[in-house]
Amino acid sequence: MIPMPELSIIIPVYNEHETIPELVGRLLKTAVLLNISCEMLFVDDGSTDQTPALLYEYAAKDMRIKIISFSRNFGHQAAVSAGLTYARGNAIAVMDGDLQDPPEFLPSLYALYKEGNDVVYAVRTSRKEGFIKRCAYFLFYRIARATGDGIALPLHAGDFSLMSRRVVDHINRFPERGRYVRGLRSWVGFRQVGLSYERDERHDGVSKYSIFKLFRLAYDCFFGFTRLPLLIINVLAFVFSLLSCLGIAVIFGLRLFTHAYIPGFASTAILILFTGGIQLFMLGIVGEYMKRLYDEVRQRPLYLVDKKINFDRES
Ligand code: UDP
Ligand code: MG
Repeated sequence: MIPMPELSIIIPVYNEHETIPELVGRLLKTAVLLNISCEMLFVDDGSTDQTPALLYEYAAKDMRIKIISFSRNFGHQAAVSAGLTYARGNAIAVMDGDLQDPPEFLPSLYALYKEGNDVVYAVRTSRKEGFIKRCAYFLFYRIARATGDGIALPLHAGDFSLMSRRVVDHINRFPERGRYVRGLRSWVGFRQVGLSYERDERHDGVSKYSIFKLFRLAYDCFFGFTRLPLLIINVLAFVFSLLSCLGIAVIFGLRLFTHAYIPGFASTAILILFTGGIQLFMLGIVGEYMKRLYDEVRQRPLYLVDKKINFDRES
């Protein structure tokens, strides 16, 4: 039986074959520097390029390289969740597979963990994305933080982090399907600390986060961790109830005490369109919660595993 590694490094990868050789090389060097027992747990999120084939080659040469292959693409957050489930280390790190998160930063995270922190998350000091994406991220993190239901969602911290075994055990017990892992990580609490790093540019290839996937992630954050959407409904409902009460009073006043003629069509049409729009907007928000409830009730698995490599010799 192989003893438990001290550190598990989880790396979700989706079509990253251009980066894998350099990534593995730098990870192995970092493992030497760290001088502790490590496992590198690659979660292949249904890649359709050479990623799995390359990983299998490396895994055949080195038992510390482990692979979970999904049956199809389930998304980054599902891949991170799978990694957290299968990792066996006392400390567990999560990093992207495109070398935007430099492996050489792991020893600094590990040192802070050894000082007694349960979560050490990496904070991005600069971004290399385009202007619009940077603005969107800026707004997103600020709104998420301001509305985070009392949880201090840290600014500009992604999934790149190192967590203690007890934190990961807690996260693994969360049954929810709409997973926003960095939110769950903050929710757990204990001693958490951020450490700044310069986020590198993607080593090769293009981002695997489509706009659709990014929106899904933002939705999982907002609807999973804030009450902001419900608050918007409440505030709007209150404001419009007040306005309509005023409106009704004015109409009655004009009708009863004056001979003023209320030109009807335009104002009525505007009111109908406006309230109709607001109601649809609110219905959309309620619908989003319904969809989430439906997902949770259905209890479908988060992902399906096709292959597991280098796990069989363990207990
Ligand atoms: N990724 C994944 N499944 C997906 C999309 C992305 O496992 O459906 C992985 C990807 O291979 C990378 C990490 O998640 O290792 C972050 O993705 P990416 O670098 O494309 O996102 P960005 O940095 O552009 O936000
Ligand atoms: Mg990236």
